[in-house]
Amino acid sequence: MSHPALNLTHDPQATSWLDSANGSDFPIQNLPYGRFRPKASAEAFRCGLAVGDQVLDIAHLATQSNWLQAPGVDTALATRAAQAAAHDLRDLMRMGCAAWHALRVALFLALRSDASPAVQHEVSSALQALSQVELGTAVQVGEYTDFYTSYYHARNVGIAVGRGSDVAPNFFWMPIAYHGRASSLGVSPAFHRPMGQAMTPGQTQPMYGPCQRLDYELEMAIYVGQDNAWGSPVSMDQAESHIFGLGLLNDWSARDIQFWEMAPLGPFQGKNFATSLSPWIVTMEALAPFRLPFARDTAHPQPLAYLDGEDLRGHGGIDVNLSVSLQSAQMRSQGREAQEISRTNFKHQHWCVSQMVVQHTVGGCNLHAGDVLGTGTISGPTPEEAGAIIELAQAGKNPITLETGETRAFLSDGDAVVLRGACERAGAVRIGFGECRGEVLPSIQA
Ligand code: MN
Repeated sequence: MSHPALNLTHDPQATSWLDSANGSDFPIQNLPYGRFRPKASAEAFRCGLAVGDQVLDIAHLATQSNWLQAPGVDTALATRAAQAAAHDLRDLMRMGCAAWHALRVALFLALRSDASPAVQHEVSSALQALSQVELGTAVQVGEYTDFYTSYYHARNVGIAVGRGSDVAPNFFWMPIAYHGRASSLGVSPAFHRPMGQAMTPGQTQPMYGPCQRLDYELEMAIYVGQDNAWGSPVSMDQAESHIFGLGLLNDWSARDIQFWEMAPLGPFQGKNFATSLSPWIVTMEALAPFRLPFARDTAHPQPLAYLDGEDLRGHGGIDVNLSVSLQSAQMRSQGREAQEISRTNFKHQHWCVSQMVVQHTVGGCNLHAGDVLGTGTISGPTPEEAGAIIELAQAGKNPITLETGETRAFLSDGDAVVLRGACERAGAVRIGFGECRGEVLPSIQA
């Protein structure tokens, strides 16, 4: 079985001696990995864990030893795992699930309320306030693929652009995707509205200019952990052991450019100008209490055997509450917070994480530690659960109204979009993903 089991690190009664951890997005049951450096410095980013309002410097902690000696810790393996993460998170990723687990247990016990004074002293010396650091992408991202796995998103967009509610037949048989670029992935990028070519309906010649239909896409980022060798497909029962964890991803989309260029090939300029990531990777082990059975509506085909399996049927889904908020320039100038404009859940996806890994590798394609797979826009069954503004505002026909009275058919210059995610379930401690934030700047006229 490749799916992590519940263990002591999911104990709902466990609290931390670090007060800010308890009740935050980042309690000790979470322990997400990222990269940080002191604010306004040119230092290299280094590996850290978010705990409460602090970041735990793994490189510093790896030079200490008391915290690795607690009963229940595999000291030898956890030590090697901490040293690997201190060097590069991808080194830890390549070590596999046993090492990920050993380090998680050691960190959990070192942060738990009953840790010894000596251990608390060691850990405290490796903490820095999140408010004092700059966060980078959680790992140096190698390659980026973006899937298209929400039936509701596919249906809603078809309706919004007048193609009708029929979803392409291949959607129901395999998770489909395009290969994107990692070069324009980043944490909190403010980016310029892209220039490009688009065809206005009824015209015979395309226009070149700033994108007129700029959108966001609420997605999750799947971080590959273990490599698979070129020519060695990953099977369903192994798929999740190749995945290190999940984050949030905003696949900014220039709809006018995208729809003109996308027939008959895939997305290109409509997507490649910017993609935002949240700074933290929530591990698959942290997500163990929030798994759901995979359920396929009987109105749709059941997966072919190579995309099916017992693990999938038992707990292929993940229950993650997700939201999109928008903050216009006017809201920012008035000191208003970003306003929530939609809310949905990752459990609504037609295809699961393991199925995406299998489909990606079935022909022999090799994935590497640090690669990111976007899930595709996440939309739920009702109109309010839409993961893109093209759905919410029905391709501009029905603009949404913000609390300032401003309206939006698509995004305006100065708009910031904030994605949030959290897992909550009775009998488990709530864990959060933090924020994925990005802002639209005016285009640079060519
Ligand atoms: Mn996308």
